Amino acid sequence: MKDTNVYHTPVLIEKVIEGLNVQEGKKYIDATLGGGGHAGEIVKRGGSVLGIDVDKEAILNTKKRYRDREIMGLTDNHRRFVSIQVSPSPSFLLVLGNFRDIKRIAGENGFSAVDGILFDLGVSSYQLDTSKRGFSYRWTGVPIDLRMNQKKGTPAWEIVSAASEEELYEILAKFGEEKRARAIAHDIVRARSVKPIVTGEDLIDIVIRNVSHGKELYPMLSRVWQALRIKVNDELDALREGLAGAENLLVAGGRLVVVSYHSLEDRIVKQFMQRNHWKAVTKKPIVPTHEEIRLNPRARSGKLRIAVKSV
Ligand code: SAH
Repeated sequence: MKDTNVYHTPVLIEKVIEGLNVQEGKKYIDATLGGGGHAGEIVKRGGSVLGIDVDKEAILNTKKRYRDREIMGLTDNHRRFVSIQVSPSPSFLLVLGNFRDIKRIAGENGFSAVDGILFDLGVSSYQLDTSKRGFSYRWTGVPIDLRMNQKKGTPAWEIVSAASEEELYEILAKFGEEKRARAIAHDIVRARSVKPIVTGEDLIDIVIRNVSHGKELYPMLSRVWQALRIKVNDELDALREGLAGAENLLVAGGRLVVVSYHSLEDRIVKQFMQRNHWKAVTKKPIVPTHEEIRLNPRARSGKLRIAVKSV
């Protein structure tokens, strides 16, 4: 498997732009910048964007991409604004940070009253496809890391090595909704007393013992990796805090647009948008077309929800 050059293909791009109701001269926050696909589209249409990402590589890559003029339609003026805030708008500002601190980050950068906020949750293709980041069970020989911020927090292999059986059970059951959580947690604790579990294949060896049919293996690996990733990055609490912060930052009539990729995230978003001061635009989430999934299989689990802040 080789590392790829394409950072990330933005999911549901037209629906996201429509959902944000992007207009020239208005302000937007992209809380999950990634490769800057969505953000670039907003800037192209004359919006000012504050792009946040917890992963330094996302910030550096997007900065470079704009410098290299990959995005057509940007004037030289637009380009100058990448990474430095210059008034008057349009501007495009990139900030390294966690969206759980969105309120502070936005306040510090002149984005405390905005017209639209986007969360495109989960991981980028770059993170999944870059072996040294240790995000995917496809990578052999590298420690299972799963941290989006490489400088902060506990890598997954440390959790797998040190958490108690009960803690491991809870992580797998709660964040992976894994039916075999009890047995896998037990096997991890038993196996690590003989040999440390560090790499993807160390953990795959254990998961394999718990599948009765070959076709169960990949879905089970996905659930186990998802559970660890959510734990390592504290993803569900970060999402709750990020949404609460976004509520403070949007003007009345402002749009909240969220793309989620698994049911735990989607439930949080759905419930959040059912609260008083929101008017849901999407009763049911918008999902990618077959054609989009054919072109970009990673879009397949995407669910887009849109709400307008009413007061
Ligand atoms: N919309 C982007 C892709 C986003 S992929 C594009 O068009 O290219 C999701 C990104 O969200 C990843 O880069 C990941 O590092 C970032 N991310 C995930 N959780 C985050 C958090 N709590 N705070 C900030 N960024 C986060």
